Amino acid sequence: MTMSATGQSADPRRVALVTGGSRGIGRAVVNRLAADGWDVAFCYQSNQEAAEQVAKEARAHGAAVLCRRVDVTEAAAVDAFVKETERELGPLDTVVSSAGVVRDNPLVLLSAADWDAVLRTNLDGTYHVCRAAVFAMMKRRRGSLITMSSVAGVYGHATQSNYSASKAGIIGFTKALAKEVGVRGIRANVVAPGFVDTDMTAGLAPEVGERMTEQIPLRRFGRPEEVADLVSFLASERASYITGQVFGVDGGLVL
Ligand code: NAP
Repeated sequence: MTMSATGQSADPRRVALVTGGSRGIGRAVVNRLAADGWDVAFCYQSNQEAAEQVAKEARAHGAAVLCRRVDVTEAAAVDAFVKETERELGPLDTVVSSAGVVRDNPLVLLSAADWDAVLRTNLDGTYHVCRAAVFAMMKRRRGSLITMSSVAGVYGHATQSNYSASKAGIIGFTKALAKEVGVRGIRANVVAPGFVDTDMTAGLAPEVGERMTEQIPLRRFGRPEEVADLVSFLASERASYITGQVFGVDGGLVL
């Protein structure tokens, strides 16, 4: 409990855990929540330098930050990370499952390894972190879970059968969870970005990027911060009556 200048106790700081917080959308979410006054734990897979930079940025907002290398495909490691977060930062108010990968190929060329990598990271990773956090949230009768799907999960993208399946799975998972845990005061919502400027889309051939942009009514890719703005809202009490929904942040791509 923190004390205000008048000596009265102020509300405890809220605590969020973000997977895949070292780059892209996850990084923007960590920074936005830190700027909003949250303490934040986040994990990454391998890019330690990027993660340390994000931790520094978030601390500059005054947040307590826990940054760990945790592979979301490993249930036990995710479980331990959630426990460490609650021990070090306090009870979790919000989980943002943002860690994700792509391994694109037409189905006829799609290897079992690339199918597994995408399903295990995107879908199993989301299950692992929500599963690890939800029981304590249920006991406290509050909390919010925010998962990251994609327009590919809503409408499907050619050469992304693995990714689209994982992202559609996340929508079904989150809606089921919203129905299951709403009675305990926990909300679960899905964010479905369109094309956002991150390392994930940096590899698109320029002509593909241009073709995609022509199909976006706002005629540009999104910025990670524009996705983080929605996550910030969904995590907050301003979204207290919103659960089980899928929110597009896609410049109008899916209409
Ligand atoms: P990104 O820039 O490639 O960053 C991916 C993040 O996930 C990194 O922090 C990475 O850690 C982490 N990560 C990957 N595999 C992991 C694992 N097994 N365990 C822990 N962390 C792992 O991706 P992004 O574009 O920000 O995408 C974030 C989320 O939004 C993903 O779920 C993605 O599918 C979704 N999305 C993105 C777009 C888009 O256009 N960018 C559109 C729709 C949906 P390292 O830094 O250590 O590698």
